[in-house]
Amino acid sequence: MDSPALLWFRQDLRLADNPALHAVAGRPVLPVFVLDDEAAGVWAPGGAARWWLRQSLAALGAELAMRGAPLLLARGRAEIVIPALAGSIGATEVLAGRLYEPWARERDRRIAEALAAAGRRLRLCTSAVLREPAKVMSGSGKPYAVYTPFAKAVAALGEPDAPLPGPERLQPVAAPPPGETLGELGLYPVPGEPDWAAAFGTLWTPGEAGAQARLARFLSGPVAGYGAQRNDPGMEGTSGLSPHLRWGEISPRQVWHAVRRAQPGDLSVSWPFLSEILWREFSYHLLWHRPEMPERALRERFTGFPWQPDAALLRAWQHGRTGYPIVDAGMRQLWRLGWMHNRVRMIAASVLVKHLLQPWQAGAAWFWDTLVDADLASNSASWQWVAGSGSDAAPYFRIFNPVLQGEKFDPAGRYVRRFLPELARLPDRWLHRPWEAPEAVLRGAGVTLGRDYPRPVVGPAEGRQRALAAFAALGGGA
Ligand code: FAD
Repeated sequence: MDSPALLWFRQDLRLADNPALHAVAGRPVLPVFVLDDEAAGVWAPGGAARWWLRQSLAALGAELAMRGAPLLLARGRAEIVIPALAGSIGATEVLAGRLYEPWARERDRRIAEALAAAGRRLRLCTSAVLREPAKVMSGSGKPYAVYTPFAKAVAALGEPDAPLPGPERLQPVAAPPPGETLGELGLYPVPGEPDWAAAFGTLWTPGEAGAQARLARFLSGPVAGYGAQRNDPGMEGTSGLSPHLRWGEISPRQVWHAVRRAQPGDLSVSWPFLSEILWREFSYHLLWHRPEMPERALRERFTGFPWQPDAALLRAWQHGRTGYPIVDAGMRQLWRLGWMHNRVRMIAASVLVKHLLQPWQAGAAWFWDTLVDADLASNSASWQWVAGSGSDAAPYFRIFNPVLQGEKFDPAGRYVRRFLPELARLPDRWLHRPWEAPEAVLRGAGVTLGRDYPRPVVGPAEGRQRALAAFAALGGGA
């Protein structure tokens, strides 16, 4: 077949192991990206993701141009833009990686209809996950609701297929229509506005090459100690691949196979890491089968939870001013770098929904706006997991103590001191509980509570009691 094809890049911003791109080999191709905030609604990319997307599109555009088929950028409703572009180049097919977000599924359904009416076809390829969520079902033909049997079922399917090579050259369509410039898409930074993402570039290199470099760095060191070090936020013990995976600059099977090559033999050696890739996979499975997950509690009874929305408490948490050092360090890391260590995400989220009794949706919305890896599946599933309202969630009554968590996972205070320099001179013994430190110790460390650093907005014991009382009001039980 040598009729032109429209290749629609969405959340698979890479050339290697891109099944949609692979499928157009030998045909004239028009690569397109459409920024469609209208269809996504509240789930349009948040601020930090818009910073990422801009850099990532620049990288993808350069790679495609080098191979002979430049990326066309457009802004507006994909439902209108895609069929119109397909018509203008006489494409018989539009190819893309499948998306799992409810709004995107609905949009794809409508676009497929519009294309079919004009004698064209929308072809969706598996690109963002190892296995299609619709194809991993329990023995009784139902979707999985619990992680462990799900992970076992995926592992039992064997190794994922080997990744596909990227193209050397691409054949452009004869007369590509004009598109917009990257600047015209209105991503971040916005000219004339303060650049809150100034430090992001110190940690991240968006784009496929950046993703491969990040993977290589992980494989050359942290992967070996991952099982033991992944919970230490003060060191680089994890891969940092989440934003690259979120934008599809690298595929999960590329990561899977690279880790398997680095640690050949029994799967159990790499299991601590691969099982996290499967948590991502499980989140997509849940989102596909429970599309209400981003908005509503998956456990019915949690819809009546007596949250106590309080703008001041939410703001204190967002700004890293709760008075709990491990939480505040995490929230400042998030603001400064667009990312937070997983262990600290769990503690910070737990304090918000339990000690502060704020709805998990409020926390998820803040993460959506501030994380470079903000991903509808993983973010909603993880928030519901922490809140106790999710599928296979931590029971609500299991309440993290932010002081003990800090002391356990950041005992030498490397993490807290990095992001809360105002506490840097406090001795380890008091670092995670400054309000209990003797006055002389505080003075010696140059800390005046209430001035340099807040007292806890809700005390640890009081917060725990409030959470348990709210849970009891719901009728108890997990
Ligand atoms: P690694 O430890 O190196 O793990 C490798 C990959 O596995 C990650 O890149 C990620 O794709 C996946 N992964 C790891 N842990 C999880 C998990 N618990 N759930 C799903 N996938 C996982 N992750 C996101 O990608 N986007 C989000 O929006 C997001 N929101 C979260 C919100 C909360 C409240 C919590 C507790 C966790 C959230 N996570 C989210 C999961 C996890 O924190 C991040 O994936 C992880 O910290 C990313 O760092 P890493 O790439 O170094 O992870």
